Amino acid sequence: MKYIDKSLNTNRCNALVDEFLALCKERVWTPFYAEFGRTRFRREVRQVLIEEQERRCCYCMRNLHGKEITIEHVIPISEPRNTFDLYKVYTPFFNQVVHLEAYLETWAQPPYPHTVTYTNMVASCNGILSDSSFKSCCCNNKRGNKHIIPLIYLPDIENIIAYTKTGLMYPIDRDPRKVEAIEVLKLNNNILKEVRFLWFRIQKEKIHFNAGSNRVEVLKKIFDKKIRMDIPEEYKKYYRTNYFWNLFLDYDWFYQYYTT
Ligand SMILES: [Zn+2]
Repeated sequence: MKYIDKSLNTNRCNALVDEFLALCKERVWTPFYAEFGRTRFRREVRQVLIEEQERRCCYCMRNLHGKEITIEHVIPISEPRNTFDLYKVYTPFFNQVVHLEAYLETWAQPPYPHTVTYTNMVASCNGILSDSSFKSCCCNNKRGNKHIIPLIYLPDIENIIAYTKTGLMYPIDRDPRKVEAIEVLKLNNNILKEVRFLWFRIQKEKIHFNAGSNRVEVLKKIFDKKIRMDIPEEYKKYYRTNYFWNLFLDYDWFYQYYTT
């Protein structure tokens, strides 16, 4: 996991949101996120998010590709007004953010409505980790009314969130709020643990390969096995299907992680 510094592009993106809000006034639109999505402004902000995150999902570190990219609201769009301020204690990035209902009382920004505020938006993957189901299993999935600590906005998060050799993600300070955030975002689901473990082994055994390498040979080396049959059953999908092989490659951020 990496800290995302929203201060770098705030002015540039607020200018885009200002333009959008002016358009809303002109067309008598409520600045819902759906309206934002009807304009070029969503596209332009999305591009900034992707670049500032070096094309990685803010939560799971997957390499982001076109249709898998979603915009995640750190304070959920559906957050009720009465609990909204619970989020504001964690980061100065929310200093100029208000609940949409509060914004509609004045129609003046700053502060910006949470539905379209740049500092409340990050790029995440769609959480789909299967070629046979389009159900989201992590990251930008429905959180309901659970309040979670915005890990990605804590400046020291890179030193706090760690991954074990078996691919388990955990906070080294054992803070229950961070444990809960990992749980709610489902960042320890089986697929994520498997791909992290694969990268740990690749780094440890110094296995050289590329996207076009013989997959069975790579998996045999990872598990130190002489024959394909002995590769653990749950890992056979990584050589059997393009989908899982490519998914594994999309998590190459963990090679660097396990190197350090
Ligand atoms: Zn993700």
